[in-house]
Amino acid sequence: MTDIKTQFDPILRNLLKNKNKIAIIPIGSIEQHGPHLPISTDSDIVSKVAKKLSDKNDYLLLPTITYGNSFEHAPFFNLSIKESTLRAILIDLCTSLLENNIKTIFIINGHHGNLKSIKDIDLKIRKKLKNKVKVFSLSYWHFMDKDFDHAGFVETSLMLAISKNVKMKLAKKGLITDKMTKQEIIKIGKLANKSFPKATKNGIWGDPTKATKKDGIKILNEIVQNLSKKCQTYLTEDSL
Ligand SMILES: [Zn+2]
Repeated sequence: MTDIKTQFDPILRNLLKNKNKIAIIPIGSIEQHGPHLPISTDSDIVSKVAKKLSDKNDYLLLPTITYGNSFEHAPFFNLSIKESTLRAILIDLCTSLLENNIKTIFIINGHHGNLKSIKDIDLKIRKKLKNKVKVFSLSYWHFMDKDFDHAGFVETSLMLAISKNVKMKLAKKGLITDKMTKQEIIKIGKLANKSFPKATKNGIWGDPTKATKKDGIKILNEIVQNLSKKCQTYLTEDSL
């Protein structure tokens, strides 16, 4: 059993009494992903990654926090919560997990704009909860070979692998960085953090037109494999 929201109180309390269980909190976003991917894309992908990671390692999967920090996508559609709000939710949830005897927590992030909220969150939570919990935060795109994009080849392939809610006929090329220097990419990245539409024009970073389900499955498996290894390394290296 991994998906905690489908479970029943007596079973859970019994399980948590005896075992040193590990929980996963996935965090995503609700924001524009071009005309071909749904606004739930980040939340959909991170939910799938977290589910596979939980299944593989027998971790407890918490419901995804589907709202994130996506103000940079305005005036394109986004439903956003403040950086401090997301941080506060995570701290509250970890406190509640500890009260339920869950002391090891992985926060798995699926949206770039959430990075500020999770920066040093492990230290903040450990301090608040007097070192009674271990918290690790990981962003899934650090565990694949390809460069992260936004509604480009990677995200579109991943969505083709996990969802039927993709309109490939509407997929259009966005910002292509292949011929840019490192410095130019850093500069446009900074602009994208302030205004994603200004940096990319059409809200897409990358080229989704050649995305395939096959590539998506390959990338997904690669991410889960590498993330899983990293989680296991953290668990063996870090003992309170
Ligand atoms: Zn995305």
